[in-house]
Amino acid sequence: MRSDLLHFIDGEWVKSTGADSIEVLNPATEEVIGTISNGTKEDVDLAVKAARKAFPTFSQTTKEERIALLTRIADEYEKRKDDFVEMITQELGAPIIMSEKVHYNMGLAHFRQVAKELETFEFTEKRGPTLIRKEAIGVSGLITPWNFPTNQTSTKLASAFAAGSTVVLKPSELTPYAALILTEVFEAAGVPKGVFNLVNGSGETVGDAISSHPDIDFVSFTGSGAVGQKISENAAKTIKRVALELGGKSPLIVLDDYDMKKAAKIAAGNVFANSGQVCTAATRTLVSKAKHDEFIEALKGVLPRFSVGNPRDEKTFYGPLVAEKQYDRVQDYIQKGLDEGAELIAGGTGKPEGLETGYYVKPTVFTNVKNDMTIAQEEIFGPVMSIITYDTLEEAIEIANDTIYGLAGYVVGEDEETVQKVASSIRAGRISINNPPSDFSAPFGGYKQSGVGREWGEYGIEEYLEIKAVVGVS
Ligand code: NAP
Ligand code: MG
Repeated sequence: MRSDLLHFIDGEWVKSTGADSIEVLNPATEEVIGTISNGTKEDVDLAVKAARKAFPTFSQTTKEERIALLTRIADEYEKRKDDFVEMITQELGAPIIMSEKVHYNMGLAHFRQVAKELETFEFTEKRGPTLIRKEAIGVSGLITPWNFPTNQTSTKLASAFAAGSTVVLKPSELTPYAALILTEVFEAAGVPKGVFNLVNGSGETVGDAISSHPDIDFVSFTGSGAVGQKISENAAKTIKRVALELGGKSPLIVLDDYDMKKAAKIAAGNVFANSGQVCTAATRTLVSKAKHDEFIEALKGVLPRFSVGNPRDEKTFYGPLVAEKQYDRVQDYIQKGLDEGAELIAGGTGKPEGLETGYYVKPTVFTNVKNDMTIAQEEIFGPVMSIITYDTLEEAIEIANDTIYGLAGYVVGEDEETVQKVASSIRAGRISINNPPSDFSAPFGGYKQSGVGREWGEYGIEEYLEIKAVVGVS
């Protein structure tokens, strides 16, 4: 059993001012794997003080110094590959291959990408008599969820460091270990004292203290809409800037001229990856009435490849959900789908056979889903696909946009003009055409209730900057 009761404040591992702790479970075994400190408001105060003290010096470092820092971080991060992969599998239940190829790699990619972006990033610009200066925003509070324990921390931290902002991070209490390894990476890379501070604990206490702290200038949050709202309310009281990366109910539009076998594989791979715990998941699959039966046949053919199982089994495509609470929530949604009259063609409620221990959910597919059903409107955050049929392209686009969310959209099709029309008509922050590889320089964030602000690459750096106009420069 691990015991990690210390926070990292002002360059030191320190005891909490309180005595409370939180147990961390392995969702595949339901066993406690360790405890972390349940930090206090006073711990946050100390972390903010340290970040504030480090700010004047760190914010004045040169671009070259910060590129060197990000590069040292990426180098040290690579040395800890085995530890990241093992701990992400333990805390999140992700299959080993997924922990490595997706989680470990994404965390690394952000540090490398942002270091590269900095080389060409201009912090000053002359416009007539005015010099525009982009300056670090101050102290940033970062609050991250459990579904991508390295990606979400790394994108925020890489951008903050690139901009010269000092930070206080609160990772999810469900997946704290990747952030602890990252802290050790920062120590090894020589991140200056006070630039990075970690306070573990619950959202209700530590997260709340961060979002309401008068000495924090900016909060970057990823997670649920309900918490995003609370953070915005708190931040409003001290007029701090907020970036929110919230949920989604993203559509995948399958065009008639695309190969249905390929479409089915892309749709299933997208919605079952990470056990469906992905904010950009294409949870609504839009297929024309004409192609519906062919698509379903193709889907049935590929489904066995997307098997749920023990994360340590090489054949497993996805593991358990992260926690019992998430399991119960997803079960309720599957039941709601049945109650509201959607047609179940795979999966359903209850644990998959032979996987009674662990928070496993069957790969579940509903068809004949109407877009006003709960399963088509609310974020399920589990391995559940909803197939919705359309008559015309105009109707497909209308259905795609009939949601409070706007994080992502997907289209698969051959005719370039139609594909581009879909891409420009979906109201969402990221549209992917024909299942492309990820681009870490592309901005990431949502329209509508999917959030405010952008992360990743150059746009990610901008979030951590203030803009100053120096007028009267000759
Ligand atoms: P959540 O409550 O929004 O958690 C995200 C982060 O916010 C965690 O670090 C959490 O701390 C913290 N938090 C909780 N309450 C807070 C508060 N009052 N003030 C400040 N921070 C607070 O998400 P969840 O409950 O884990 O998941 C619920 C649903 O949210 C999911 O089913 C899914 O629909 C959605 N979700 C979306 C994303 C995404 O990437 N967009 C990610 C995760 C979840 P704790 O350590 O206490 O949890
Ligand atoms: Mg909590």
